[in-house]
Amino acid sequence: MRLATITNWAYGITVLLTLASGSTMLLASSAQDRERVAMSQRADLDQATSTIDEDVAQLSSLARQFAISGSQADLIAYRRESESLKAVETRTAAIRDVGATPTELRSLHETLHWADALRDEQAAAIAARARGDQHGAVAILFSPEYERELDRIQSSVERFQERIDQRTAAAVEIAVTASQTWRRVSEIVLGLTGFVFLCVLFFIFRQRVLRPVVRLSDVVTRLAAQDYATEWPQYPQVDEIGDMAQALRGFRENGIVRQRLEKERDADRAVRDLLSRMTQRMQRCDTVQDLTGVIERFAPEVAPRLAGSFYLFDAERNVMAVAAHWLGPVHSRDEFVPMACWGLRRGRQHRPAGDHIDVPCDHVAQDGDILVDSICLPLIGQNGMLGLLYFERRTDTAEIGPDENYLKMLAENVGLALDNLRLRDALRAMAMVDPLTGLSNRRQLDTALEASLSHAARTNTPVSCAMIDVDHFKRFNDNHGHDAGDAVLRAVGEALKRSIRSEDLAFRYGGEEFLLLMPGLGVADARARAEDIRLRIASLAVRHDDRDLGPVTASIGVATWPEQCAADRLVRAADAALLRAKRGGRDQVATVLTRDT
Ligand code: GH3
Ligand code: MG
Ligand code: MG
Repeated sequence: MRLATITNWAYGITVLLTLASGSTMLLASSAQDRERVAMSQRADLDQATSTIDEDVAQLSSLARQFAISGSQADLIAYRRESESLKAVETRTAAIRDVGATPTELRSLHETLHWADALRDEQAAAIAARARGDQHGAVAILFSPEYERELDRIQSSVERFQERIDQRTAAAVEIAVTASQTWRRVSEIVLGLTGFVFLCVLFFIFRQRVLRPVVRLSDVVTRLAAQDYATEWPQYPQVDEIGDMAQALRGFRENGIVRQRLEKERDADRAVRDLLSRMTQRMQRCDTVQDLTGVIERFAPEVAPRLAGSFYLFDAERNVMAVAAHWLGPVHSRDEFVPMACWGLRRGRQHRPAGDHIDVPCDHVAQDGDILVDSICLPLIGQNGMLGLLYFERRTDTAEIGPDENYLKMLAENVGLALDNLRLRDALRAMAMVDPLTGLSNRRQLDTALEASLSHAARTNTPVSCAMIDVDHFKRFNDNHGHDAGDAVLRAVGEALKRSIRSEDLAFRYGGEEFLLLMPGLGVADARARAEDIRLRIASLAVRHDDRDLGPVTASIGVATWPEQCAADRLVRAADAALLRAKRGGRDQVATVLTRDT
């Protein structure tokens, strides 16, 4: 039931009870009036009738006294008393006026009638005495019959008074009872009215004031603690409570907006901070593997609701090959040609299930008719495409977040890092590789030599080193020009590449000198390999500018660790053997002699 209905009912009941209380008070008052009337009637009737029998007896006594004495004074006293008895008749009229019933009046008249009869007898006796007949007068007034009449009048008056008493007593009792009853009812109704009024007052105070104030106070406490998720109380009424609720609602809405903005700002700061840390780590990466590790670690943090893959462009095979996955992407193939991706085709971010209609990528397997919500972010470097960042919505989440701008920043940073890495690799390769022959240069020798020797020591295998020097190389320069000399060096380098095993390492040691490290080969095998190389060089037919440059030969010195020398003297021992090969007439292989070491 609505509060307004309850209060209206309560108001109605209070008003009815108030009216009832007033009515009962009026009834009680009228009962009291009735009681008062009955009491005054009784008093009046008592007063009117109380002297009748006394007067009759008095008159009778005076008549008897005159009958005996015959004194004029007694006669005067009798007549005076007789006049007074006449006034009794007048009093019966007054009795009628004070409410005696007809039956009572009839009984009173009968008594008075008897009194009249008695007076007649007294008159006859007085007349007889006046004639001097004392005896006759005494005989009338003292006769038994006269006595009986006197007693009858007396008892009749007593009965009348008794009846009047009974009636008025009953009327008074009824009036008193009614008055008391109505007074009690009036008190009860008044008490009930007061109780209902207090209940209504309490109910209204509790419902309209106390409860809303307590609720709003609770809301204020929560708002102060920035708890805006609290259930909002509805107080639409137009009063102070309604105004307060309205003001708090505005305060809460402002708070919610402020909290949302703060949350967004914090989230934005957190992602930017994450991206910044990721960029710092990526800048310190030395290899693509390092970079892949960083992407694998940070990408799921930047976009936790997106599964993803990092693809690297394999230029030799012209494919995008996956380098890392995170959060279990399921739709994109691990390898695909760049043309299968619209992001790579267009060189910009591609999201076919985004805000605008677009074509899906071929490398993304679709879920039947439902377009997979995927995002392709091509990684473009200074020299073209480097790779691809692929994201798709995880199956266990309904949101795509975060802001695509973060993904764009992520892709830009990854692209930049990858480009730097590729550039650094190229520079490093350029620094390590001899540009003329494509062989490793002398800078790499120390590292490679150390690695080969320590591996050999661990595996208890030998390492052989061959120092190769082109014979009379200066002549090619001198006779055919520097470019022709370069052509000879390139040809020797190619011959070396063709004749070594995969585990062998060939270096351009400097000028027209080459060095070969042969892990695992002992003295005899190394010498045989060197002989093979010498023959290959000797069989070269180098041409430059359509001119045959003539035969090319080389001298080779071979040293083997640990059979022939100490590890730290391997190159020097091979060089010493080479010197002997030169001295021995060139175009030959020489191995280490004891004195070489
Ligand atoms: P030998 O048989 O004793 O080794 O005589 P050689 O002429 O081969 O040796 P020499 O040390 O006298 O000459 C080496 C020459 O190689 C000197 C240098 O000008 C030349 N040279 C060094 N580096 C290059 C290069 O990169 N290209 C060309 N064309 N010549 C080079
Ligand atoms: Mg030489
Ligand atoms: Mg030389």
